[in-house]
Amino acid sequence: MEKTAMKTCQSCGMPMAKDEDFGTESDGSFSKEYCTYCYQKGEFTEPEITIDMMAEKGGAIMSQMYDIPPEKAVEFASEQLSCLKRWAGREIKMCESCGMPLVNDEDFGTEAGGSKSSRYCIHCYMDGAFTEPDLTMDEAADKYAPMMAEHLGMPVEKAKAMVNQYLSSLPRWQD
Ligand SMILES: [Zn+2]
Ligand SMILES: [Zn+2]
Repeated sequence: MEKTAMKTCQSCGMPMAKDEDFGTESDGSFSKEYCTYCYQKGEFTEPEITIDMMAEKGGAIMSQMYDIPPEKAVEFASEQLSCLKRWAGREIKMCESCGMPLVNDEDFGTEAGGSKSSRYCIHCYMDGAFTEPDLTMDEAADKYAPMMAEHLGMPVEKAKAMVNQYLSSLPRWQD
């Protein structure tokens, strides 16, 4: 079976692993895009909610979990949310190695023939190969955590926990 990215709710960003995490369509089938909290019977549970309101909620949780100053957490939540289909108007792919959103053409890595990779970013993947083929998930977390800590004003060990959690949802790091 092809390794695929864990589905995240395209409204709130929650990872959806089990059937009961998924919302439902009007015919009772599972939604492919939205979680059970956001989407029921083919409709958003909170149709009036804005991305800012959503970022406030998500930011408050992240702030508590990972010791991020509240305003930084809200800003970060807002950046994450803006890549989701409900708010961006289209589904934006994430690099399956580092999680960077692949928004513009130049964000995508390249295959051996020079065509664009559909899965990885330019920093992780060039000419059909990983730029750091021997990198382990733990090393990747060590590499990204200080940047994340600096960006969000949080302790490095909390950043590492957050990055680890995030990377483990990406196909490159799944067994
Ligand atoms: Zn959701
Ligand atoms: Zn990448």
